Amino acid sequence: MSHVAAETVIALDIGGTEIKGAVVAQDGTVLRNERWPTRPGRGGAAVIDTVLGCATELAERARRLTGTPPRAAGVVAPGLVDEAAGTVVKAVNLDWHDIPVRHRLAEHLGLPVAFGHDVRAGGLAEARLGAGRGSDSFVFVPVGTGIAAAVVTGGHALTGARGIAGELGHLVVRPGGERCACGGRGCLETVASAAAIARRHARLTGTPDLGAEDVHRRATAGEPVAGQVWADAVEALADGLAATAALLDPERIVIGGGLARAGADLLAPLTTALADRLAFRTPPRLVAAQHGRAAGCLGAALLARDLLLGGPSAVPPEV
Ligand SMILES: [Zn+2]
Repeated sequence: MSHVAAETVIALDIGGTEIKGAVVAQDGTVLRNERWPTRPGRGGAAVIDTVLGCATELAERARRLTGTPPRAAGVVAPGLVDEAAGTVVKAVNLDWHDIPVRHRLAEHLGLPVAFGHDVRAGGLAEARLGAGRGSDSFVFVPVGTGIAAAVVTGGHALTGARGIAGELGHLVVRPGGERCACGGRGCLETVASAAAIARRHARLTGTPDLGAEDVHRRATAGEPVAGQVWADAVEALADGLAATAALLDPERIVIGGGLARAGADLLAPLTTALADRLAFRTPPRLVAAQHGRAAGCLGAALLARDLLLGGPSAVPPEV
């Protein structure tokens, strides 16, 4: 195809369930998407081997699509990451501790490799190519199995002193509430994540875990318990977002992740609940993310492109 740009980068978003991959043209067009199961039960060493194999496959695809090898790779990972060092310090879902991801991939591929945090990279993708466009200050909040946030200002996502800024899922919104995987109680994640919605519904009804999408469907159909679980999640999210807004005063909040697929059934009640909590000010606008689960992978591609263009500091935000 004549419109296919010869210059590509490859992108990898390493998650606990699956590894997403893409071949992306210089203009941001995604030429190819791939997915592989992560299977972290095999142990961290096996997961990094799988990632290297996925990268090889993607590089080969890029070569077949355009006739030339990719120019660079971008990779993003969850957990505690050291972006400057290119390492994953700790990612429980991947069984990774101190894994030099950038170095391993660069050595394996013989390409320049950019490395970042999955949620912050997703925020970058929404900033430049999605629902954050035109905003100099927004918070990207993917609500999926967990809940996180990327605080994006001036085209960059805040990392914090230890690389863990944006752990919104562990903000306590129900003191003394349900035990969280982090060791705390009543974290936002225990009420409002997709996993929590599914778990709470299963517990209250005695039926097997249906998944958050089914709970949402049942709530819409008028099942009272599903409706209550959904409403609880909305109220808890509003508490978390109100705290976020009070502290950061973002111009908008971009809701992503699996739960955002509920569309207006989530955003409409959430907008009302947030406004109720922020009566002293104009609440930030709530909008749905544009890239859904692909945001992290697209962000990885942007990091790779930034690397080719001379590093993120040399690139003005495309807002
Ligand atoms: Zn927690």
